[in-house]
Amino acid sequence: MDNNLIDEIRAHVNIVDIISSYLPLTKKGKNYFGVCPFHDDHSPSMSVSEEKQIFTCFSCGASGNVFKFLQDYENISFLESVKKCADISGISFNYGAEKKYNKNQDLLDMYLFASKLYQNNLYSSLGKEAREYLNTRKLDDEIIKEFQIGLALNEPSILTDALKKKYDDKRLLSSGLISEGEYNLYDTYRNRIMFPLYDLSGNIVGYNGRIYNSSNKSDSKYINSRETAIFKKGELLFNYHRAKEQARDYKFVIIVEGQIDAIRCHQAGYKNVVASLGTAITKEHAMLLRKLSSNIILCFDGDKAGEKATNSAIEELAKLGIEPKIVRLPANLDPDEYILKNGKESFADLINNPLNIMEYKEKLLKRNIDLNNTKDLADYTNLMIKELSKIEDEVLREISINKLATETKLDVKFIKSKLEKPKEVKVIKQNNKVKYSKYEKSEQALIYYMLKSDKVIKIYEKKITHMPTDRYRLLALKIDCFYKEKGYIDIADFMTYIHDDGASTKALSEIISLDLKDEVDEEAILDYLNNIKRYNDKNLSNRYKKELKEETSLEKKIELAKKALAYKIRSENNE
Ligand code: ATP
Ligand code: MN
Repeated sequence: MDNNLIDEIRAHVNIVDIISSYLPLTKKGKNYFGVCPFHDDHSPSMSVSEEKQIFTCFSCGASGNVFKFLQDYENISFLESVKKCADISGISFNYGAEKKYNKNQDLLDMYLFASKLYQNNLYSSLGKEAREYLNTRKLDDEIIKEFQIGLALNEPSILTDALKKKYDDKRLLSSGLISEGEYNLYDTYRNRIMFPLYDLSGNIVGYNGRIYNSSNKSDSKYINSRETAIFKKGELLFNYHRAKEQARDYKFVIIVEGQIDAIRCHQAGYKNVVASLGTAITKEHAMLLRKLSSNIILCFDGDKAGEKATNSAIEELAKLGIEPKIVRLPANLDPDEYILKNGKESFADLINNPLNIMEYKEKLLKRNIDLNNTKDLADYTNLMIKELSKIEDEVLREISINKLATETKLDVKFIKSKLEKPKEVKVIKQNNKVKYSKYEKSEQALIYYMLKSDKVIKIYEKKITHMPTDRYRLLALKIDCFYKEKGYIDIADFMTYIHDDGASTKALSEIISLDLKDEVDEEAILDYLNNIKRYNDKNLSNRYKKELKEETSLEKKIELAKKALAYKIRSENNE
């Protein structure tokens, strides 16, 4: 691996540009701030330094350079993150066909095999009825191929028999594709149209099988893969891996309930769509959506269940500080049916004019009341005020307050006085949790400044007495090695240098979020070194004292006592 090339690639991208393509950043002073995507939060606790080309979260302690950000955000390997930056900056970078080793690779292989089999079935003579069904659902060959839709034949064990040659029963069962009967194993899916479900990187990890003909009427309409090592329903969104790139261009993401709804939106030109597959939105879903865009449009079914799903999604997103926009469809229509019935232009009209959260709440509250009735009006106003208190977006809150004032003929000031105070946003600094002693703080500060100036590295080299804390000593050694190798010091490149050393990376993240002065003060550096030296001397003195107690020879006892005293004096003289 050419490390200089990797540094060059890093130098050619700007971390601020890259991070802000994923999440909004606001400039405050020298640095940029945003909501940290690596923990459950909605206060801007992540800072991005353009000068140092690193990010740091004050709340969860996540930190690193642009590669680390991409790795963690996109769930990709280090080399994939380098490749991404290389592509952005137009530098050619071939890292070979390096594949992440996956301990569930065999499960992925089984799904790959199953997907080929299912797709083949659909285009065999036995697939005629299923193909016709898909055509009546207006899913053409192109879409069928793109979404890798297939067919499980009405046979007990075609897939089982094929996979049995390669995998043992236990592994077969753990895939979810195969089930266990009283006497033998059989195919979980029979006589169903098969919609593959993908993980975040686009591997097939599960299926949704739909009935399509009369012989299967008694069964439930869909069956979902059961949870496996590679498939957790609450942690994936249908079409996520395709929507990932698209959401960035569209600057928003649409979420629908069903996979056919998602496929239809995709067909209608909204490739920035994901589906929750009929389950309530979980916290993981909400965090995934936030990764796609902070601009989320909920477009659930027009029925009562869709309304419930909308409300619970609003609640889950609110926990992350996200206020989604809402599209409500006419009763009894889902997005698929709406688009087929009214055309994609009409759907585009809805998507272009979604309700904001207050408009949506207002609509719900007004449904069963008569605003000419004083009691109704008062109830409505009270409920609206409650909703207004929850709005985080200040502009939206202000506009909505004014609207309500006009509508109810109440004074804006009066409405404002009734609002509950917004909760204080607390940023808990991780560093406050750990109390470091004086010598540890000195070690940290020393490393902090070594990363800023090679002058400090040289002083450390010359004066050293080693650092007493293992992780800091190792880190200092690595800084020294980095400097000797490269001839310069740069914190972002140094992060690349230690990227596969978890302990050093962690120790470094403790240090970079320290709130220390920018300028390097040589006096202070010498002070830090002295603190460390004193601690070491005290330690040595104590060690000799201990040995002294255990020693039996008088001659050696005297020797040790002298040493213990000498180090004690030295440590005190340095005070
Ligand atoms: P279709 O248009 O094919 O009838 P739909 O998407 O309109 O499907 P819904 O009843 O609205 O179907 O359900 C929404 C989604 O919930 C489905 O796409 C499917 O992913 C999931 N789902 C529905 N029923 C079940 C079930 N019985 N078991 C598991 N998942 C289901
Ligand atoms: Mn439908």
